[in-house]
Order: sequence, then C-alpha cells, then structure tokens
Amino acid sequence: MRYLILSDLHANWEALEAVVQDAAGQYDRTICCGDLVGYGADPNPIVEWVRAHCDLVVRGNHDKACTGLDDLEWFNPVARAAAIWTQGTLTPENADYTRALPKGPILEDGFQMVHGSPFDEDEYVLGADEALQSFGYLECRLAFFGHTHVQGGFIWNRSRVETILCPSGWGDRQEMEIDPDCAYMINPGSVGQPRDGNPRSAYALYNTDSHVVTYCRTDYNISGAQKKIRDAGLPPILADRLGVGR
Ligand code: ZN
Repeated sequence: MRYLILSDLHANWEALEAVVQDAAGQYDRTICCGDLVGYGADPNPIVEWVRAHCDLVVRGNHDKACTGLDDLEWFNPVARAAAIWTQGTLTPENADYTRALPKGPILEDGFQMVHGSPFDEDEYVLGADEALQSFGYLECRLAFFGHTHVQGGFIWNRSRVETILCPSGWGDRQEMEIDPDCAYMINPGSVGQPRDGNPRSAYALYNTDSHVVTYCRTDYNISGAQKKIRDAGLPPILADRLGVGR
C-alpha cells in the first residue's frame, strides 16, 4: 500500500492543491495528522477535500479550537483571532465533520497516527527528550505526527534517539528506508504553514511494501494564499509568515 501523509493543512488551499498535483499517481490512500483549519483563508474547501479524499484523519488542536471543543484561552492573540474567524466561516456541515474527528493515536496497517504525541494530542514533540518519552508510548515501531510544522522526526535505534533534520533540505525529495530494528516518529511537515525555515509545502509518502518513507517539498502559489488571508481580514502576520516558512 502506498500512503500520502498530510499534516497541518491550516486552510491553505493553494498549498494543498500543489501537493495533490505533485503527488499524483504515487499513492493509494491518504491520511492526515490533523489541523485542517485555522490560520488560512480557505477552511471550507480544505475540509471538503479532506472529507472526500482522506481515509484516516486525527484531529488537531486547531480543529478543536475552531469548532468550539476547546476554549481559546491558551491560544495567542493571532491564533485566537484566526480561530474566531474560522468559527464564523465554516459551514455547519464542515464544522460538524471537523468537531467529530477522532482523537489520536489511531493504529492502522502497522503504524500509528497522532497530532502531537502518543500520550497527549496537544504535546509538541520538538526535541530528542520529548521524542524518547513518546517512543515509550508507541504500540508499534512507526508513527506519523504533526503539530510542530517541522518536517523530519526521530529515530530510536535501541540505544538513543536521533533527530531527522531537514530531510529534503531545499531539494524536492529524500527517501529513507525503514530499518525494522529501529522505531520511527515521522513528521511529514506542514502542508499549509511550514515553520522549518523552508516556505515550500511539505508532505510525505510511505510505501508499506518497500518500507520507504519519502519526504517531499513542493512550490505553491504563496502569494495567492497570502492575498486571500489579507483580503479576509485575518491578522496580516499569517500571510507574512508563509513567505518565510516560520
Ligand atoms: Zn498546526
């Protein structure tokens, strides 16, 4: 089976459109590690695409915040403003779908999917210490996660945790073969709001037969997405950050 792995779409239609085109013909099933909405100006088109095309989805913290499942107290003012705008923009059907998304982890086909970490969907796994703790909670040797918007992840090689840094760099693709003696937490990166210093849209492919994960980056119409954010009256910093990938 060939999987397309998406995370942190954040209502960025231009980015998702580019990813789908870039990955065309290279996957059989699509999974999403959460944060469909929040920050971007196209929550309805994104949720409708996910409803139609994703086989498995776990919810993200923005999916909760934008559908009234979480209070917005701990969100910073920019994220809060975007969540309130999204609450007022989502159609009732799309809000219902997003609100009903399951909490991770989900176990499927020999891997797990989570938004943040296996023990807390809202936890950020940013460094080796958090990753080591997370590996202790995994039920299998491979997990896909998001939330940090940083493409890469971690490998546990039985003695220590290695960090997978900038796997695709500024190129388009980087393959990594899964070693059955190790455990992996793989972050495909963010489709709609990369924060690893690379503004190109990020995603991953996983082939369960060849045991290869491919990290991918693709260009998209950043200025188009930025214009929609500004025109919608969302905080302008949300447009600016897309240009720098931070
Ligand atoms: Zn996110």
